[in-house]
Amino acid sequence: MSDATTPVDYRPMWEDLNLDLEMHDALLTAIPQLYKSVFARQQNRPEGMQYFDFVMREIHGLRVKELDDFRKAGNKVVGVFCLYVPEEIVRAHGAWCVGLCAGAEFGYDEAERVMPRNTCPLIKSFMGFKLARVCPYVEESDLVIGETTCDGKKKAYELLAEVQDVWVMELPQMKREKDKRFWRDEVRELVSRVQDLTGNTMTVESLSTAVKEVNDKRRALQRIAEARKADPVPISGRDALLAVQVAFYDDVGRFTEMVNKIADELEERVAAGEGVAPRGAKRILVTGTPMAVPNWKVHDIVEKAGGVVVQEELCTGSRYFDTLVPESNGSLDAMIDAVADKYLGINCACFTPNQGRCDDVIRMAKDWNANGIIDYSLQFCDPYQMESTLVERAAQDAGIPHLKIETDYSMEDVGQLSTRVEAFLEML
Ligand code: SF4
Ligand code: SF4
Repeated sequence: MSDATTPVDYRPMWEDLNLDLEMHDALLTAIPQLYKSVFARQQNRPEGMQYFDFVMREIHGLRVKELDDFRKAGNKVVGVFCLYVPEEIVRAHGAWCVGLCAGAEFGYDEAERVMPRNTCPLIKSFMGFKLARVCPYVEESDLVIGETTCDGKKKAYELLAEVQDVWVMELPQMKREKDKRFWRDEVRELVSRVQDLTGNTMTVESLSTAVKEVNDKRRALQRIAEARKADPVPISGRDALLAVQVAFYDDVGRFTEMVNKIADELEERVAAGEGVAPRGAKRILVTGTPMAVPNWKVHDIVEKAGGVVVQEELCTGSRYFDTLVPESNGSLDAMIDAVADKYLGINCACFTPNQGRCDDVIRMAKDWNANGIIDYSLQFCDPYQMESTLVERAAQDAGIPHLKIETDYSMEDVGQLSTRVEAFLEML
């Protein structure tokens, strides 16, 4: 991707996608302002993060144009909202996957016409983006693949299906052997659904290539995560979070290359003892509900208060990249099973029991030498709010201070949250 100097007029493309241009303009004005306020004035930011400045500038421009060109060449794009839809299977059929989770308070009026006000902001936002016609990614999706994770999403997909092609994967809610068998079957159904969509047949070779590409992307993110163990930390939590958020929709090969470059830079910084925050700055592990672009609220508050986020046990964090699909080539059947098993290993609060997540949080807090844990949940998110009691107990047992934050996408509570976070950092 070259950093074009002549501005490109993307309006005809947005018009073709039937976006509401007026509302879309408002969104495109709001995101850069927010981005600037969160990212611009960071000290000693890694140079490689300029790539992400560019990606964010082009969030509804160049990347959407790439999807548009890809589809015009006869290919398919699949939109997803959750980690449980295996990107490897989609890519192995020659299609591309884009993450659709929406992290902004936009289109709520439209969403609230069809769903209760007290719905989690993430669901309201994705429905609002679709109904208000402001999201080019959903409009570029030939099929949206949902999953039966939480109840809110399950029911929202029925409403979304009235205005979009949607197919829902049934995710078991437990992880017993019979659930594993069930999920493997469900992934096989995904294979036939994507085959119908694309007209392409997956082979051992195409799946091996896709597994390797997606693993490479995750390995690059693992390198960034590893570098964050250092004190001083070589990259801010805001920037590390942004990298994972972008991983959901950027071109896989380009993203991997750019993130590996950033990882090289971070490893040099670690060797030289350089960082973005002073040595000894209070280190925070954030856990909880996913943070979709442009939701940077908690990280921004923590880091402007003098702390530094060193790791995220989130779907936009370690849950996205910390495990890989085995790359050993066997039969196609064995490879599909390996893909299914990797995904069922993710510890989302939609599972019961979900001890694995509490174990992950404590293990990560220790490995990244966190002074405290911030457990963040979106309002009306029952799975994560309920589970937060168990996370708190696990933190108490491990002797790690813990702060619960419940919030939404608005900025109204920033002052109050900042006061609580400052007091928490002070106490550590
Ligand atoms: S929190 Fe659970 S339901 Fe939400 S994106 Fe992550 S895995 Fe999916
Ligand atoms: S944040 Fe919670 S309620 Fe919202 S979609 Fe995710 S799991 Fe469901």
